[in-house]
Amino acid sequence: MMNPDSFEDDEGSFYNGELIRQPRQTWTLEEKLELLDTHPMFTRRCPECEMPYPKDYRPVVHWDCPFCDWKDDTV
Ligand SMILES: [Zn+2]
Repeated sequence: MMNPDSFEDDEGSFYNGELIRQPRQTWTLEEKLELLDTHPMFTRRCPECEMPYPKDYRPVVHWDCPFCDWKDDTV
């Protein structure tokens, strides 16, 4: 039998397994790194529809998706 109260996952969060229960405080380093990992400025693809951005697509500030309604609001 597993008592949920005594269940500890020191490993933290499983992003793939969807078990994410980090205490919500402020942006953690992990979240910032995740932003770097998902932002089109770095991935060159939309985090929403995952369409790759055109090669010559070089927005100055906002990397709004040209394919869906995703808006870059990080700036
Ligand atoms: Zn998109």
